[in-house]
Amino acid sequence: MSKVAGYLQEHLIGEVTASADVREHFSTDSSVFKITPQVIVYPRAESDVRKTARFAWQLAERGRSIPITARGLGTDQGGAAIGDGIIMAFPAHMNKILTLDSSKSSLTVQPGLNYGKLQQTLQTHGLFLPPFPASLEYSTIVGAVANNAAGEKSIKYGVTKDYVKSLRVVLANGEVIKTGRITKRELNHKMGLATFEGEVYRAMDALLKDNKDLLSTNGLNVAKNTAGYNIWDIKNKDGSVDLTPLFVGSQGTLGIITEATLEAESYNPKTTLFAAFFDDILKAGHVVLKLRELLPSSLEMVDSHLLNFLDQHNPSQLKGIVSKPFPKVILLIEFDDVTKRSQQKKAKNTAKLLKNFATEFKVTSNLHEQEDLWKIRYGAATVTWQNIGTKKALPIIEDGIVPVEKLADYINNIYKLFENYGLEVAIWGHAGAANLHIQPFLDLAQVGDRQRVFKLMDSYYQMVIAMGGSTSGEHNDGRLRAPYLPSVYGPKIYELFQKVKQIFDPYDILNPGVKIDVETKDLQNIMRHEYSVSHLYDHMPRI
Ligand SMILES: Cc1cc2nc3c(=O)[nH]c(=O)nc-3n(C[C@H](O)[C@H](O)[C@H](O)COP(=O)(O)OP(=O)(O)OC[C@H]3O[C@@H](n4cnc5c(N)ncnc54)[C@H](O)[C@@H]3O)c2cc1C
Repeated sequence: MSKVAGYLQEHLIGEVTASADVREHFSTDSSVFKITPQVIVYPRAESDVRKTARFAWQLAERGRSIPITARGLGTDQGGAAIGDGIIMAFPAHMNKILTLDSSKSSLTVQPGLNYGKLQQTLQTHGLFLPPFPASLEYSTIVGAVANNAAGEKSIKYGVTKDYVKSLRVVLANGEVIKTGRITKRELNHKMGLATFEGEVYRAMDALLKDNKDLLSTNGLNVAKNTAGYNIWDIKNKDGSVDLTPLFVGSQGTLGIITEATLEAESYNPKTTLFAAFFDDILKAGHVVLKLRELLPSSLEMVDSHLLNFLDQHNPSQLKGIVSKPFPKVILLIEFDDVTKRSQQKKAKNTAKLLKNFATEFKVTSNLHEQEDLWKIRYGAATVTWQNIGTKKALPIIEDGIVPVEKLADYINNIYKLFENYGLEVAIWGHAGAANLHIQPFLDLAQVGDRQRVFKLMDSYYQMVIAMGGSTSGEHNDGRLRAPYLPSVYGPKIYELFQKVKQIFDPYDILNPGVKIDVETKDLQNIMRHEYSVSHLYDHMPRI
């Protein structure tokens, strides 16, 4: 056992290991990167997290760095759940619902709780967390918080940050803080504290005051965005401050979350679902804009290439639902309004619109028929699950988002890009947000394909940025998209992100190499030579 592992094992209640096979297991997440950690800690209590952070801080003060990467279930597609120091694996022990008050729709959870299990529990209380990611069955709730995850219901209900009320966070030096909105007066009290927490509040207050004008707009006109740090929602006009929105989406780079208090939403499983077929992308784009005004609970899409792929690899998904020749685009449109009357009214308006623009549409309120229609969209998982020879679908450009009115242009630009690279393409995703998922088939064992990864990423992200978009709608920056952050926001805002990181993590202990100060050349060295998500093989994923 290494010295670090030995010290930690002596002082923590949870298990610590430096075994080669465990380190190998945690050397990958769902990204194309691999980094082998030195030690794995399975914390049993907040005190374990605190002591580990304190230990790393004290080492850093003496000039020795051992970084900490908090980890849920490792479904991160940008390489944010791997690191070369200590991996802190939460799902083993810190995986409980601590409180659930269904009358107030309020709950407090530990970080390693499985999101799917939590959702099931909430549904038995007539509640749910709407911004669930498609990966909910095999990911954790705080993985979603740390990534500010979103999903098929986000068009109506928003993203994870809208449901997080407060957090308990272990700071880089091992101090514990509780976040939540505080008044100007309470802020003054915090700023007077002679602790690291006090230092953080003082420095953040000064940063926000000094850059008030710069922060008056973030310049991105997109429906959701996980790129960078959310420094826009910390301070309200009344002077109140909340660090919660900053920690949400910060990917374990500013603090380690040990508890999250969330607010759930009423769950209505009785919905109206449309599947609308289009022979023209422009028409589909126009309909998306019109439908957004009706506030659907989902507005999803798949393209003809995805349908062709399904037809070849998983034809039962399409049987009796779509026939050849396949439409260019299928939209899935769902309304979950509480009253039947409201759903019927919206269904009437939708049908009217579709009669003018779609070639065909189906509508149903029957649960079984709805399950069949959803197969079209969930069938996209087949892409990530099936190889084409030695080629695998790689998550390298899988989450760009552009202004909603540019959806049709975005789809056409993706087609052009793939044509230029001689690659096959399939598109699916959140049409209502113009947040599209694509995963090119490449073989990481081939030098040529490894080089193509970086060229394709550059071309794609430059295209998204030029369209006024963000490199990530919901999957976050991780390592993968971190080099593009200065281009997404410009150098001044990027500098603020660097300052935020410096304030919270002066010794660069918390998940370094994620989000901030990452260059493409750093990524070339950690690129895997094979790609798989074997740690998820218990599940057939939804994406
Ligand atoms: C097939 C597939 C489909 C997906 N679909 C979606 C989707 O629809 N929407 C979406 O948003 N994402 C999606 N994702 C990405 C990912 O699954 C989600 O973001 C998920 O919420 C991450 O949870 P996790 O438990 O796997 O976290 P991990 O991958 O383990 O970690 C994610 C990040 O959270 C940080 N973290 C974990 N625990 C803590 C903690 N206690 N304190 C601080 N930081 C912490 C990690 O350091 C890391 O930066 C998908 C991924 C896959 C593979």
